[in-house]
Formats: sequence, C-alpha cells, structure tokens
Amino acid sequence: MTAPYDANNIFAKILRGEIPSHKLYEDEQTYAFMDVMPQGKGHCLAITKAPFRNILDVDQASLSAVITTTQKLARAAKTAFDADGVTVIQFNEPAAGQTVFHLHFHVIPRFDGVALRPHTGQMEDQNVLVENAEKIRQALGQ
Ligand code: AMP
Repeated sequence: MTAPYDANNIFAKILRGEIPSHKLYEDEQTYAFMDVMPQGKGHCLAITKAPFRNILDVDQASLSAVITTTQKLARAAKTAFDADGVTVIQFNEPAAGQTVFHLHFHVIPRFDGVALRPHTGQMEDQNVLVENAEKIRQALGQ
C-alpha cells in the first residue's frame, strides 16, 4: 500500500503558481518545466496536472498524456542542444529514488562520453536555466 497523494508537494505548488518554475510547455492535462538540480544540460520534467503520486496510481488517460508530453520534450531537448541521445527516467517511491511525490518523467539530453551528475545534486544557476529553457521552448515551437 503506497501513501496517499499529498497536495503540499512542490510540484503541486508549482501547478498552483505558488512557487515559480521555468515553464516549457503546457496543455490541458500536462505541464513541463526545467529541473532546478539538473543531472545534465537541459534536464527537464513532464508532469500531470491531475494529482497522482507516481506510476502506481495514475490512470491510463493521464499516463498517456504525460508520456506524450515527455516524447515532445525529449525530441525538443535533443534538438535544442544537438544532443547525441536522451535519457528518460521515472522513479516510484523512496526505495526507488523518488523525492517529489507528484508523477513526473525526467528528460535528460545526453552527450557521448558525458556522465550524468548525481540525482538532486547541485542547484543550477538561474541564468543557465533561463537560457536553456528558452532553447527548449524554441525547439518546441512555443
Ligand atoms: P524525483 O527524485 O524523481 O522525485 O525527482 C525530483 C526532481 O525534482 C529532482 O530532479 C529535483 O532536482 C527536482 N526538483 C525539486 N524541486 C524542484 C523545483 N522547485 N523546481 C524544479 N525541479 C525541482
């Protein structure tokens, strides 16, 4: 049995506009923004607007919507940084490394020979996040 959804998690606050985010994309069911502690250049996140804790409780329609947004982000981020590949990661529950309990997919552009930085490591410079967000938005056609 997993814990119930907690509406005070940080991504719920971002969705309510209570804390800022570097927005990349939005549609009726999903939202995408920059990860503030990136594991690589252009690391971004796709989330559902509806309140799901992770892949274990999400319904099929919302999962389908968020994975579609994840694909959009992956393609755009690869183009934006001329990356060699893209890693998509998704964690479920603390044992698996989940730290924010609102369903999200990580999208991380990858470059040959460049390792990922640690998960939830260092806070990125805001100017870098602004610059990288702009590149991804352009590639998304936003
Ligand atoms: P996870 O461990 O999969 O739950 O990942 C949560 C992710 O959210 C981590 O990569 C964090 O760097 C990221 N993160 C935490 N707080 C924020 C925030 N306020 N804005 C953007 N990303 C965040």
